[in-house]
Amino acid sequence: MADTKYIFVTGGVTSSLGKGIIAASLAKLLQARGYKATIQKLDPYINVDPGTLNPYEHGECYVTDDGAETDLDLGHYERFLNVRTSQANNVTTGRIYQSVIEKERRGEFLGKTVQVVPHITNEIKERIQILGNSGEYDIVITEIGGTVGDIESLPYIEAVRQLMWELGDYNGIVIHLTLVPYLSAAGELKTKPTQHSVKTLMESGIKADILVCRTEHDLSDDLREKLALFCNVKREAVIQSIDASTIYDVPNFMLREGLDKVTLQKLNLPEKNHPDLEKWDAFLERHKNPKYEVTIGLVGKYVELQDSYKSILESFIHAGAENEVRVNVETVHSEYIDEETIKNKISHLDGILVAPGFGERGIEGKIDTVKYARENNIPFLGICLGMQMAVIEFARNVLGLKGANSTEMAEETSFPVIDLMEEQKSVTDKGGTMRLGAWKCALKENSLARDIYGEETIMERHRHRYEFNDTYKEQIEAAGLKATGYNPDTGLVEIVELPEHPWFIGVQYHPEYKSTVANPHPLFVAFVKAALQYKKEKTSATLA
Ligand code: GLN
Repeated sequence: MADTKYIFVTGGVTSSLGKGIIAASLAKLLQARGYKATIQKLDPYINVDPGTLNPYEHGECYVTDDGAETDLDLGHYERFLNVRTSQANNVTTGRIYQSVIEKERRGEFLGKTVQVVPHITNEIKERIQILGNSGEYDIVITEIGGTVGDIESLPYIEAVRQLMWELGDYNGIVIHLTLVPYLSAAGELKTKPTQHSVKTLMESGIKADILVCRTEHDLSDDLREKLALFCNVKREAVIQSIDASTIYDVPNFMLREGLDKVTLQKLNLPEKNHPDLEKWDAFLERHKNPKYEVTIGLVGKYVELQDSYKSILESFIHAGAENEVRVNVETVHSEYIDEETIKNKISHLDGILVAPGFGERGIEGKIDTVKYARENNIPFLGICLGMQMAVIEFARNVLGLKGANSTEMAEETSFPVIDLMEEQKSVTDKGGTMRLGAWKCALKENSLARDIYGEETIMERHRHRYEFNDTYKEQIEAAGLKATGYNPDTGLVEIVELPEHPWFIGVQYHPEYKSTVANPHPLFVAFVKAALQYKKEKTSATLA
């Protein structure tokens, strides 16, 4: 067994306690002390990956360089650590079962009865150890999705129990994240739910080494002692996780509570240096003390659930800090935009982002939005479906191609300016079959894109089936919407822009997946800057 140490993060009492953020914060601290750490998320649902899920279910589907469609927590891991994740960092029950069933069909179990224990649990253990055995990491943090006691997470808990035993002392620990609720009628924080969830964990043979307690109020010393005694952990292993105004505060909160120190002690690892968070803190400083403010509209159809656009919202935080600008993101439901409402909803914005998406719902509102941004010189960024809407709008309203559309929305359109990619035409399965992951994009000289990236070729992540239809390229370019980024191997158009407009760009890929605290994405940085510029000009024009 490799020298890698394992940390398992389980959750109790309720979901949505922020296990992903705690795991990312701990990894950040360990990284800042000089350890190579990575994080893995195990999701107990039966979908093979979240690619087929509606964003209303679990929020955005995140995409890695290697083309895995994953849980949005992987986005947090990358944004905190500035380290790339891959398919190995996210495993679902569906994937585990699929793999075990395929092995069974190949006869690999040699006539044995295939069972949850040991076959499913072995598969889980293998998936956990893939990252450790790669030799790339000193520490692997594995986050178990769901809440302890859930029927569907039982095989994972059993796999962790077995692994803890196999790894032996100091090689694996369990961090249990719970809720310490405040009862306002009693004026008290309550420890009983935590005691019960630790007990549930214990019934499965797992003893928590560290408790991380989500709370709205500070935990007193007495309360910490009580939790330690009744939950069978050391006093210094009771960690408070108080509500934070930004998730980016959590690593410092955990540092203050000593989560990294107690973790290292329990893994018998040296503390090394004090965590170097200089750059992180500089980012926080800029994020919290902006000099300017802009309001950017995020136009999409899943706006009721903020998690649907998680990476975009986080990218604005990174780009805002970089520009010392507070970016107020105003979500606008594209379904409710029409000629009558548009002015009211859009005209005050300093920048407009038309979001990614699938299917017909809300697209006419997106097209109207692009038109408004184009005609009124408002900085515009279209991402994936947003870029496709920009092409459709231009074809309809500038070229006069009435009814131009994407064949995704209107198969019979006379002007399919966005069409299914050739390679997609034979695809029938929906899961994992889009054009996914990182692809090269060459940037044309003298373009806004080239200017922003400062590079000839970039790599960006994709998730789509439809694409700019080359048949219309000449006509569209001649009328002023330029294709300035393309795949060097296939010629597929990846970027369009309007040189006539102060800042108008549509990208077929998803820049939001690559923005991190350490490396804010250049496209978002430039977009926020353009919005600020636009706002300044607008204000001076009104004052004049
Ligand atoms: N639905 C579009 C396509 O499949 C856009 C996808 C997206 O926005 N991610 O091409």
